[in-house]
Amino acid sequence: MIEVIEESEAAPTARGAEPLIVCENLVRIFWADKVEVQALQGLDLTVLDGELLAVVGASGSGKSTLLGILSGLDVPTAGTAHVDGLNLLTMKGRDRIAFRRHTVGFVWQQTARNLFPYLSALENVMLPMTYTGLKARARRARAAELLELFGIAYARDRRPDMMSGGEQQRVAIATAVANSPRVLFADEPTGELDTETGADVFAALQRANAELGTTVVVVTHDSKVSEHVRRTVGIRNGRTSSEVLRDHEAQSTEEYAVLDRFGRLQLPRAFTDALGMKDRVRLALEEDHIGVWPQQAPGKPQGGRE
Ligand code: ADP
Ligand code: MG
Repeated sequence: MIEVIEESEAAPTARGAEPLIVCENLVRIFWADKVEVQALQGLDLTVLDGELLAVVGASGSGKSTLLGILSGLDVPTAGTAHVDGLNLLTMKGRDRIAFRRHTVGFVWQQTARNLFPYLSALENVMLPMTYTGLKARARRARAAELLELFGIAYARDRRPDMMSGGEQQRVAIATAVANSPRVLFADEPTGELDTETGADVFAALQRANAELGTTVVVVTHDSKVSEHVRRTVGIRNGRTSSEVLRDHEAQSTEEYAVLDRFGRLQLPRAFTDALGMKDRVRLALEEDHIGVWPQQAPGKPQGGRE
């Protein structure tokens, strides 16, 4: 049976708000043609149990690298990463397979990568439940319920090539949550879709979060997504650089820059460009804030303590 949470808005704060994912100072270095690529450069991230989190960032900022690590497909070069209390740096063979089968679910951008082409929608959703000990009838019933939940029950007997991209992605979400994972990762699941179809897929992710209680981390380069989630984390150059918190009831949005434990802060490119800031800036501690000026500024506004 599908567990349905009573209140449809499963607000993270209402569910104890325990951290489910904790990354500290995560580093991933790739070597390509003897050139070092630092895909992640000391990334910090905490995701609470029950949260629906959007991760946004330009192409090449390290989003897929992060999801690869968090889903147990890749191992970081340095730092720490825990998902549901499990250490992703030390996890070995059998535990890693169990982790990927039961703790995490994954939806890729490429629709074709998520589903088996020769199986129907229903058979695709049933497949991950093969090793759960559930009887075939129970697996079939659960698969049918999940297709229903994501609004694609009508496509249960269709193979992927008979479905639209958006339908395939919704079947992929049903497949990814079939074994009730603690967290669902989606890497640009709407990237290949038009806006309207993309909205259907995003709604399915919201349903997985609200009605199944699955923690969802969705990666996108579409910054508009932050209008639909409570928290959006921005990644720049392999590091978390900004956070947008949105209170849907109060209809307010607050933007934050992330201050790491070494006191490092990334200033938005638009800000530094606007003032021509480069290499060096002048800082001053004020009563209740810190002032930042371009190096060349002839003088800074009065009131700074130096
Ligand atoms: P995003 O998903 O945000 O577009 P990625 O995580 O895919 O970014 O990539 C981050 C950086 O790491 C990019 O510069 C990319 O070229 C590099 N990179 C990713 N995977 C590999 C790899 N397997 N080998 C070499 N470089 C890689
Ligand atoms: Mg990517």
